[in-house]
Amino acid sequence: MLLLDGNQLSSVIRKEILAKVIQFCQNDIRPPHLAAVIVGDNPASQAYVRNKMRACEEVGFASSLIKKAIGTTQTELLDVIAKLNEDNQLDGYIVQLPLPRHIDEHAINLAINPSKDVDGFHPNNFGKMALGFKTFQPATPMGIMMMLDRYKIETEGKHCVVLGRSNIVGTPIALLMSKKTKPGNATVTIAHSRTANLKEICQSADILIAALGIPKFVKGDMVKDGVVVIDVGINKMEDPNSSKGYRLVGDVDFDEVSKKASAITPVPGGVGPMTITALLENTWSAYSKLF
Ligand code: NDP
Repeated sequence: MLLLDGNQLSSVIRKEILAKVIQFCQNDIRPPHLAAVIVGDNPASQAYVRNKMRACEEVGFASSLIKKAIGTTQTELLDVIAKLNEDNQLDGYIVQLPLPRHIDEHAINLAINPSKDVDGFHPNNFGKMALGFKTFQPATPMGIMMMLDRYKIETEGKHCVVLGRSNIVGTPIALLMSKKTKPGNATVTIAHSRTANLKEICQSADILIAALGIPKFVKGDMVKDGVVVIDVGINKMEDPNSSKGYRLVGDVDFDEVSKKASAITPVPGGVGPMTITALLENTWSAYSKLF
């Protein structure tokens, strides 16, 4: 069984990005600059943003964190976005999700300048991705594709089952896997909470991508021998033996499924770090005006 190690692969790719920054940013040329906007004090969001800022340091990027109080209005947030759109010292930015309920996520997404949309959520970029144009792709699916590519996992002609159809993971990864690309060229089934015969569908998967948000949902008897498993889930599970009182687990029961899989991502240390690495790649592309 091959462990698809997102930490190790990220470290390799981040060194490549750092090398490009060192080579390009000589003679007072400023480095790429990524900003993150966070509204409220959700601890998980704060941890994600912290990791993204740390990753910027690792690759020589400048980073800015814009913290707004939970009571920030939609108009105030749109003002922040308008300023970021105009800032010519800034290449890309993300608005960390989820946003408080009183703010309309779609309105915020639409306000982001597509050329700075390094999360790839703006409809312009999502549409370009769907049509096969080069563009910013949402970081998690992009990170998964980078992982399949670097680990040389064969996807062509394989049956790929995607569990989940969210706009940030399930739908875009299903789209990318079905494209006439390498990796890609898979025959894709998207499953969701209304899918009938889910177990049988999972059992027919050559590649199973789990993005449901249900701890250890995929069990050993739901997969066939030799399956490639990409576990996107990040779930907290109570664990009195851990100093924090919990540990992170994926949507896949790793102990059971890894016995049958030919390759599998761990949680943590699989898709999570690759997501941040993809964000860094997108920021480099924004800086280099690649799209
Ligand atoms: P969402 O809650 O937006 O979507 C979950 C999807 O799973 C929905 O499409 C839902 O179906 C489907 N689903 C729920 N229950 C079932 C079920 N019993 N059987 C089949 N399908 C089901 O989640 P996200 O896509 O945002 O995130 C999924 C997981 O990935 C979470 O654990 C999240 O923390 C993690 N994540 C990890 C990232 C990383 O970097 N590693 C990045 C982003 C997310 P329906 O549409 O019918 O409701």
